[in-house]
Amino acid sequence: MNIFSLSSISVIVALVSCHDPQVFLSVEQADGVALSCTELQSRLPDRVFFQHSVEYDRQQNSYWLYEQAHDYQPRCRIAALDASDVSVFIETVKKFNASFAVRSGGHSFLPGASNIDDGITLDLSGLNKIELSEDKKALFLQPGATWLDVYRVLERHNLSAVGGRSGSVGVGGYVLGGGSSYHSNRYGWSCDSALVYEILLANGSIVMASAAEHPDLFWALKGGGNNFGIVTGVRMATFQQGVLYIVIRSFSQPLTVVNRIFPALEKFTHIGHHDPDSSVFLSFAYTAATSTISSTLVLVNAAAEKMSPSFKLFDGLQAVQESRLTANTSTLVLLADQTSDFQYRKLKFTLTFQPVGELMRRILKTFESLTGSIAFEDAAGVYLTFQPLTASHISHDDNALGLSTAGPLMLLSLEIYWTRHEQSEFFHRFAKEVHNTMKKEAEDTGSLHRFVYLNYAAEWQDPFIGYGLENLCRLKEIQDKYDPDGIFSILQQGGKKINACHIQCT
Ligand SMILES: Cc1cc2nc3c(=O)[nH]c(=O)nc-3n(C[C@H](O)[C@H](O)[C@H](O)COP(=O)(O)OP(=O)(O)OC[C@H]3O[C@@H](n4cnc5c(N)ncnc54)[C@H](O)[C@@H]3O)c2cc1C
Repeated sequence: MNIFSLSSISVIVALVSCHDPQVFLSVEQADGVALSCTELQSRLPDRVFFQHSVEYDRQQNSYWLYEQAHDYQPRCRIAALDASDVSVFIETVKKFNASFAVRSGGHSFLPGASNIDDGITLDLSGLNKIELSEDKKALFLQPGATWLDVYRVLERHNLSAVGGRSGSVGVGGYVLGGGSSYHSNRYGWSCDSALVYEILLANGSIVMASAAEHPDLFWALKGGGNNFGIVTGVRMATFQQGVLYIVIRSFSQPLTVVNRIFPALEKFTHIGHHDPDSSVFLSFAYTAATSTISSTLVLVNAAAEKMSPSFKLFDGLQAVQESRLTANTSTLVLLADQTSDFQYRKLKFTLTFQPVGELMRRILKTFESLTGSIAFEDAAGVYLTFQPLTASHISHDDNALGLSTAGPLMLLSLEIYWTRHEQSEFFHRFAKEVHNTMKKEAEDTGSLHRFVYLNYAAEWQDPFIGYGLENLCRLKEIQDKYDPDGIFSILQQGGKKINACHIQCT
């Protein structure tokens, strides 16, 4: 059951009110950004950094996306150390109507999601406390903590939490977008483990949102992104965790295994909930320098079982290389970080569809023919990843994602990386073309699902429409209640915005 009743939505076939950015911005003071930076410097003297200072450059260079580090230059950056700094920040930007961005781990795939050109960036990476409760059943995390640090703290107590698969990802953006994890097959999305959010609202108050207090806001924050306020902490459930068992198999061209691997992936997605400690990913990597496609299958068992029933589905596939390891989560997420490269321009899009092996085969064919049809720069490449969303992963209905009755699904993501700025327009157009082709393939077979995972969504994708009309309307209603002036949608334009102006809510 949802923690509130959807029938409480009272608007019958009426347009949902939307803020008009023009009206709002027309009252902007002469130079709200400059005035805010100056006032913040006097109120938070050691926390404000301007261009060409060492700390400003350090913060800028710590974004995962090259574009966020280099194409967006805020006039000043504010390094908050506690919730009261965040409170002063919001009071000031509101006073001067100054545009701003909020950053936690800085790992967004969206340019301008957590940095801003010519505005002010609130950097929460110093707001990074990790506190285990006395009974060790819960953990309080500030948004700037990274998952590597979280796992390191928890591993001292043989515990873990539903968190990122890369150590450098931040808690803030990850959990607000959902959060897919090695433990999602058992515990659901990361946001499903959230017990309480501490959030600074547009009116300057800091409130706790939980099943007991502000339950509407609690629900909205589970998938609602940065639309409701600035989250200054989240209390999450922990669970017992020892080492994990991991098998990584690599296959090279020609991909002779596809006839067997897609049916196995389809089967795992359908029955994976019976083996909730196991998770599986299948990736295909196109490397422009060699014009080759290789593929990698990753099998993880969180209970360190070497003979899990799910692993057997993938037995007998001829790999060119196979690694088996037993490791704790922090070692595993550090391994994943080794493949991250901050020097590339990148983009990502996502699609969701029924787990049909034949469709995945067709999508791979499209991937092969489209990547093979264009001349990439040598440094470029493309990853195509299939990630099962088992019934147990998506069955929670007290989040905004709208998936609880969907049944098992397949999450696709496609990531392109390159270096030269002049190529950016081309790659964005290319990605759209690939997206449209793959989406049509899923549509044509009646397998497309509306869900668009916020944390993987491209600039042109709208995750909130993918949550379903009821949830979108409910999110808009909650946004209007907690941020009636649109501070987090107009002054903070980056990230995915709830755009329900054109939708009729009943
Ligand atoms: C290398 C890598 C590995 C990844 N692995 C996974 C994975 O295993 N599973 C998965 O589900 N996703 C994964 N992702 C995607 C990741 O979840 C998103 O990119 C997420 O947004 C990153 O959060 P962040 O805090 O690091 O990012 P940021 O760029 O700091 O923030 C992302 C968005 O959230 C908003 N935001 C951040 N903090 C707050 C806050 N405290 N209050 C309000 N709004 C806030 C920002 O304004 C921004 O719009 C990965 C991404 C990368 C680059």
